[in-house]
Amino acid sequence: MTRVPFNKPSIVSNEIAYLTQAIELGQLSGDGHFTKLANKEICRQTGAHATLLTHSCTAALEMCAILSDLGPGDEVIMPSFTFVSTANAVVLRGATPVFVDIDPLTLNIDVSDMAAAITDRTRAVFVVHYAGYPADMDPILDICRAHGLIVIEDAAQALGSFYKGRPAGSLADMGAFSFHETKNIISGEGGALTLTGPRYVERAEIIREKGTNRSNFLRGQTDKYTWVDLGSSFLPGELTASFLFAQLELAETIRATRLALFERYMDAFAPLEAAGRLRRPICPEGCTGNGHIFYLMLNNIEDRDAFIRHMRAHEITTPFHYVPLHSSPAGIKFGRSNHDLPVTNDVSARLVRLPLYYELGPHIDRVIEVAYKYLSQDPG
Ligand SMILES: *Cc1c(COP(=O)(O)O)cnc(C)c1O
Repeated sequence: MTRVPFNKPSIVSNEIAYLTQAIELGQLSGDGHFTKLANKEICRQTGAHATLLTHSCTAALEMCAILSDLGPGDEVIMPSFTFVSTANAVVLRGATPVFVDIDPLTLNIDVSDMAAAITDRTRAVFVVHYAGYPADMDPILDICRAHGLIVIEDAAQALGSFYKGRPAGSLADMGAFSFHETKNIISGEGGALTLTGPRYVERAEIIREKGTNRSNFLRGQTDKYTWVDLGSSFLPGELTASFLFAQLELAETIRATRLALFERYMDAFAPLEAAGRLRRPICPEGCTGNGHIFYLMLNNIEDRDAFIRHMRAHEITTPFHYVPLHSSPAGIKFGRSNHDLPVTNDVSARLVRLPLYYELGPHIDRVIEVAYKYLSQDPG
């Protein structure tokens, strides 16, 4: 029995050659040859005005929080159903995350719950494109523009996804992508900040370079560089950037491969959905996904946990997602929510993710067979 991990990072094309080239070029620190190529390629793929490579999506989200000038007393609305980095970015500025519920079908931020959470202290909204499916940006932007709020896309999972024909990551004011090894395009750890207009570019460059105007200096726009603002070290080295660039070049192939695997799962589990045994992911109206996550929504937590044990007994790893932030120890300490977020609680108890990675192909039939056997016998 071969073990099937949940995720397996793959070398897909020129990673090793570009790593070697980066070493030969003699600059291993950031903002060299490959960082420039990667930034340009991400702009091309997302339609962003500017891209700044970072060492993680977490770092890009922290940059977004600094660029939004968040401080104590400020509130930032976000779904409770997200990764901790979305909330930490806000808490690190001394501001308060206000957790809201998600839509039961798309698992993205519930627009009316978001609207209801706006107060005169609200400064920004972080939306998350869960499983690579974009949040419903048109009504979100309408409401946020009317209240003068900054809108930030946590697009960690959404490279290669589209909302009404427009790429995720350039749908609002700022976007944050992840190239962590569990995402579609990877560099081990890695990320990027995308900006949709010129407004934040200069300050973002300064924040990313420890609060200095080194970027201007490197372009010859100033004859010395100095400390001019708040900042930290948010940039990756060239080894990371060179690996990433090789993956970015193959983005379309990676996306097509994952979408084909995703469709295999969709087809395989359709009869069980028809029988009321589970539900499969739902692509929101007008959106195109990127095959980032395939999940099953089972009927209750006992059923879900028993399914995970069954799969584990067959050496197949199927984790769930997410422990809600609003009821987590740090969520209670640093944030708040206006009610108990019933959809978030329910979804986090019933959702399970199946393995999905570039080289899953030879193993997907066994994953389907083992899962199907359990799900077609047990009434849930
Ligand atoms: C993966 C992920 C992050 C964090 O990405 P890193 O690159 O590991 O920092 C943040 N938000 C969401 C929604 C994610 O899925």
